[in-house]
Order: sequence, then structure tokens, then C-alpha cells
Amino acid sequence: MKQYTGRPASSGIAISAFTEWSSGQLSVEKKQNQNVDQELARYEAAKDEAVTELGELYTKAVQEVGEEKAAVFEVHQMLLMDTAFTCSVQSIIREQSVNAEYAVDQTGQELAAMFEAMDDEYMKARSADMKDIAGRVVRILQGSAECSGTLEEPCIIIADDLSPSETIRLDKSKVLAFVTRQGSLQSHTAILARTMGIPAVVGVPIPKYASHQSGTCIVDGNQGNVYIETAEDARTDGKEWQNLLNQYQEKQAVDQKQKQLLQQLKGKPIYRKDGSQMKLCANIGGVSDIDAALLNDADGVGLFRSEFLYLKSADYPTEEEQFAAYKEAVEKMDGRQVIIRTLDIGADKQIDYFNLEHEDNPALGYRAIRICLTREEIFRTQLRALYRASAFGNLAIMFPMITALWEVKRIKEIAAEVREELIIGYTAATNQEKEDTTLRNTETYRKTLEGVPLGIMVETPAAVMLSEELAKEVDFFSIGTNDLTQYTLAVDRQNRNLEKFYDAHHPAVLQMIRMTVENSHKAGIWTGICGELAADVSLTQTFMEMGVDELSMSPSSILKVKHELLCK
Ligand code: PEP
Ligand code: MG
Repeated sequence: MKQYTGRPASSGIAISAFTEWSSGQLSVEKKQNQNVDQELARYEAAKDEAVTELGELYTKAVQEVGEEKAAVFEVHQMLLMDTAFTCSVQSIIREQSVNAEYAVDQTGQELAAMFEAMDDEYMKARSADMKDIAGRVVRILQGSAECSGTLEEPCIIIADDLSPSETIRLDKSKVLAFVTRQGSLQSHTAILARTMGIPAVVGVPIPKYASHQSGTCIVDGNQGNVYIETAEDARTDGKEWQNLLNQYQEKQAVDQKQKQLLQQLKGKPIYRKDGSQMKLCANIGGVSDIDAALLNDADGVGLFRSEFLYLKSADYPTEEEQFAAYKEAVEKMDGRQVIIRTLDIGADKQIDYFNLEHEDNPALGYRAIRICLTREEIFRTQLRALYRASAFGNLAIMFPMITALWEVKRIKEIAAEVREELIIGYTAATNQEKEDTTLRNTETYRKTLEGVPLGIMVETPAAVMLSEELAKEVDFFSIGTNDLTQYTLAVDRQNRNLEKFYDAHHPAVLQMIRMTVENSHKAGIWTGICGELAADVSLTQTFMEMGVDELSMSPSSILKVKHELLCK
């Protein structure tokens, strides 16, 4: 049995089989003075496995997308079995006495460059095929599982790191826990794991497990421990492992009992002495998280990270796609408020089709509202979808990364223009179309759109210092303590070497929260917290005393915070 320790990123215990996950970005090392015969044999075996994999992919693809589209996998099989590919790999291994991975990678690169240089468009396109084929063989040689987003069986995922879009693409019903070698507690992958209530440990110095190495893994997301027992280990330490397994099965049962106890707090509102309510809401990344929000008794959605709609998609989501998602969210929440944050792209959330330039300091760069205010067509599409969805439930809109008053004023101008366009469209619409909005006349439609609360995220020191003025412009504040901590302390939230310095309890951060709440109340608006600090029970009573009106967090944390407020 092997034990590894990392940082606990999402609580809970999982016990299951594991899968080594490869994100497709393989790094290939050149190893010299290798045993040539052995490397040739490794290549042959990996090639055969790749051919088999491609055959299976072809069969699956025929069922899902039809023969014509599936043919690409047959082409890959043929290219791989072609003598040109194999001869090149073999001669690199023989002539340079190098490892098979390097020879395959070199061959892939050379053939890809050759196709790329051809004039014919069809032949040019074969360049990508060559890279793909070489990547598949290298992956098999390195013993990693295929990166597909789908999982055959429920399992624990072990990976170098997972990008937010990869995490979101995974079939969550099959992911029992995440273990990553890299990643920080504040990364969006860790946040997503908490949102989904999936145990996670990050920064684990765990070696790569080959695809043939199966076994059982225990992930302790409370303590940050990971244990692995392969069939090989079982021969020497069966008893020790069995004891550990028993211990963890007991812990898992206690955990589940605790969760059941917390369920008894459901439906109990939290009031202050002055009769005002403290709302406990959910942070979600998409409509599929709403079930978890409802299950955990959320008073509403305090943060819908709309950028995940963009991250999941291969191109800009259309107005209709966004409208459908926002409408479904408000309908499912059935009268409870859903605060949807406009897209917060940039920094660690990069999307290819946005074509954002490389930046030396992305966290201080072109992100969030800065993109929306310079590429207004993207912003207007999202606002149209949001306002249209507002006719179907209790929707509020929130804007991220605000640093100046002019930004809020410009946002409000654009929002007013979008509303006017929609109202004109509504007036001209047929009765059938009007029925689709559930509203019966132009005046009620206008009132609904104008009644949508507009709020801002207070997540920069500038917004805190301007909170008195900003409070006069908006309907609510929501404090993003993740970024507020990063920008106040000048500590990169993504950098795991700085975790010791990333102190969300820092007096400067707490002072800023207090100041924001006070300034909002002076202007008669409310303030929530939607950063990770909202779920920190060591601060729950402090937030209550400060007058914070709403705490919004991963659905799985809500009942724990409620317990802190009602039972202590
Ligand atoms: C925050 O910064 O606290 C926040 C909630 O936004 P995100 O984590 O998505 O940047
Ligand atoms: Mg933020």
C-alpha cells in the first residue's frame, strides 16, 4: 500500500477503483542509450493496442455518428499500420538508441510537418491526423488512460491537473473523487469539486499509474491523504490494507450519518435578533448543479458562474442557448432568486475561441467585465438572454471585476439599451410570441425587465474603497473573497507555493468586508459573500455580527453553515 499526502480541496471520503487521467498534453522526454530490442518491442505492443483502440472507437462512432463520420478512425488505423510510420519509428530507435516515446513523437512531428507543407487542402489536414496518431501511441507507451470525458464505471480520477473545461466535461455521476498532482485550493477545479460535493485532494506527489495497474484507492478529502493498493501491493500487506479499509469505511459511514443529521436542519430559516434574515445560497456552475442546491436547502442561487456555459462550448454560446439555460435555472429555483454573473473569462479561465492574447499577468489582465466592455457584442448577447429569461422567474444580474464607477455607469447604459430593444421587439411580436414570455402586455414586460436587480461583485480593493459611491448605483453587492484576497494581499490564488501567504482571514480582508457591508447598508442595499470564505464556519458568526445579508457557497457546505448558525 502506498500513502501520499496533498492538500484537502473538497471534503468527503471516497473508496473505489482509480483511473489515471491524461489531459492529452503529453510531455515526451528523450532517453538515450536504451535497449534497442526492448524499445522496438514496446513500440510494436503500443501500436497494436492503438489499432485495437481505434477499432473500438470506430464501432462506437458508427453507432453514435454514423459510418461516414466514423471513417476517420479507420483512416487513423490505416495510417498507423502504414509502413512509412513504423519504418520511421524503427529507424529512429535503431540509429539513436532512444526510447520508443521519443521516436514516435519525432515521427509524428516530421510527418505532420510534411503534410502541412503540401498545397492540397485535404493532404494538409492529414497533418493533424499524424499528431493525433502519434499522441495516441505515446499515451499508450506512457501508460495513461484516454482523455474522453466519458467514464465507463464510477471511479477516482488521478491526473496531473484538470482544466476547468475538462472538469466540467467529465461525467460527474461517475467521478467519485479527484486527485491531482498540481492545482491549488483556489483553482477552479477545486471550486468545482466542492460545488459538486466530490472529495478532492490537490498537490499530491503521486507517481503515474500505468493503464494496466488496477487496484483500490482511498481518498480522504478531509485530511488530504490518498492511499493506493494495487494487486502487487496486496501480496505483501493485505492485513494492513484491510485495517485501513475498515477504518475508512467506518469514517465514510460517520460522514454519511453527519450528512443525514444536517438534513434535519432543512427548511429552518435563519433570523437575526432584529428580525432580518440571513440567506444561505448556492454557488453553481450550471443548471445541472441546481438539484444539489435544492437538495441542500439553498435559499437561492447567490452566484451562477455563467462562464462555464462558454467553457463547455466549442464556440460562443448563442442567445438561444443561453436563454434556455437561464430560463431553466430560474424555473427550477421556483421563485427563489438566481443571481447570474455575466461571463468572467480570462485569468485561469481561458477559452480558445475568444482568441485572447498571451499575457504576462493574466490575473491583472484582460478579463471579465473588461472583455464585456470592449467586445460589447458578446456582452449584449448575454444580456439579451438574461433579460428574456427574467420573464420566467426571479433573476438578478451581477457584474464581475468592477474597479471604477464609470464601468458601472456604462454597464447600466448598455443594459438599458438592451431592455429597450427587447421591449420594441416585444411590442412588434405576434400574440403567440408574447404568450411565450408568459407576460400579457408591453407595460408588464417593461416593468419586469426594469425590475431585474443589477449588482456587482466587490472583489477588488478599488471596489471596496469606492463602495459608498458604487452602492448608490446598484441594487446589491456580492463580495468575491477569492479575488479580493488575491488582489488585496498581492498573492496569486493559483500559485500553490504561495498558499501560506494566501490568507483570506487577513485583517485587511476582514476590514474590507466590514466596510463594504456598512457602506451598502448606508445606501439601503444588501451585501452577500460568494467567495469561498462564505463556507468557512470559523467566520460564520463574525459575518452574522457584521450584518452580511447572504452567504453563498458550494451546495454541499450550506447545511454545515446552517448548523453553525442554528445549533451553536
Ligand atoms: C471570487 O473571486 O471570490 C469569486 C466568487 O469569483 P471566482 O472565484 O469565480 O473568481
Ligand atoms: Mg472572482
